[in-house]
Amino acid sequence: MNEDKKQLILDRIKAYDRIILSRHTRPDGDAVGSTLGFAKILKLSFPEKEILVACDDYTDYVSFLGKEDGDVPPEKYEGALLIVLDTGSYDRISNKNAKLAKEMIKIDHHVEDEPYGDISWVEDFRSALCEMIVDFYVTFKDELKIDKEAALCLFTGMVTDSGRFRFSEVNGDTLRLAAVLLDIGIDTETLYARLYLEDFDYLKFQAYVYEVMKITENGVAYIYVDEEMQKRFSLTREQASNTVGMLGEIKGSIIWLAFIDNGDGSIRVRLRSRFVEVNKLAGKYHGGGHLCAAGATVYSADEMNALIKDADALIKEFKENNFYL
Ligand code: AMP
Repeated sequence: MNEDKKQLILDRIKAYDRIILSRHTRPDGDAVGSTLGFAKILKLSFPEKEILVACDDYTDYVSFLGKEDGDVPPEKYEGALLIVLDTGSYDRISNKNAKLAKEMIKIDHHVEDEPYGDISWVEDFRSALCEMIVDFYVTFKDELKIDKEAALCLFTGMVTDSGRFRFSEVNGDTLRLAAVLLDIGIDTETLYARLYLEDFDYLKFQAYVYEVMKITENGVAYIYVDEEMQKRFSLTREQASNTVGMLGEIKGSIIWLAFIDNGDGSIRVRLRSRFVEVNKLAGKYHGGGHLCAAGATVYSADEMNALIKDADALIKEFKENNFYL
């Protein structure tokens, strides 16, 4: 069935002179990597077409992958095809002009709660959206072209969204598709240095996080990165958000949460888990996402505590019924 979807998408791409690609707001490596990587494949394969990457917000995180086009003027959408990548719901598209396009295609790997677009190709078992783009490239290898730059974009998305190929969605296909990119030639040493080396001060902050993190009775590890903490360590919001990654390797803790004060009365919640599903919990608090990696927003300390309590109850139930590590 998805073979038909892919063919349909390639046919629609061929039918348009102008194609605009967009991704989700507050982008991560997979969102930026997939849009820039797919844009590069399309530019190389169809040099006569105009290919643009439109977005309303940016990240410095993977800026080494290249520049997005940003604000694409409304008139450019006339008669254009819009391909939205890695974006589960319509309201998370980082493109205020999305509805101006003549036709919209959704390509995504999130659990599909809210279908949108004229054509939707969703594979929620994939560890990264970039994996689907590589699969698309491999399927039509005789018609599509790729280069080192595109391969780097797609590999970056695969590495970052799969937790360095460690998350449970990673399977043989993931590695076979990553191998296609490695064969094209990727300087992984430079890439990993760019992605994973930390500033001295940030490591000091990490030590502080371990000092102040908390754990509930049944094992929800959490941290609240309030405004004061962000100021004290001169953290960008992105650095503050990354604290969730510091809490993921505590024995007995199968859900871990980071609360990041947005400074506008709202608190971003990042939910991560092993074995237990947290996307429904995120849904209860204005969010959603993957089974074991989701996001939400709360608006008060009470709501934050309620979410922690709910997460604790999930672990309790799980531990009562399952063997766990
Ligand atoms: P994050 O912690 O922001 O990296 O989010 C983890 C996953 O949940 C990502 O794949 C997001 O796409 C998804 N997600 C985050 N926030 C929301 C939200 N408010 N609504 C739906 N999905 C979300």
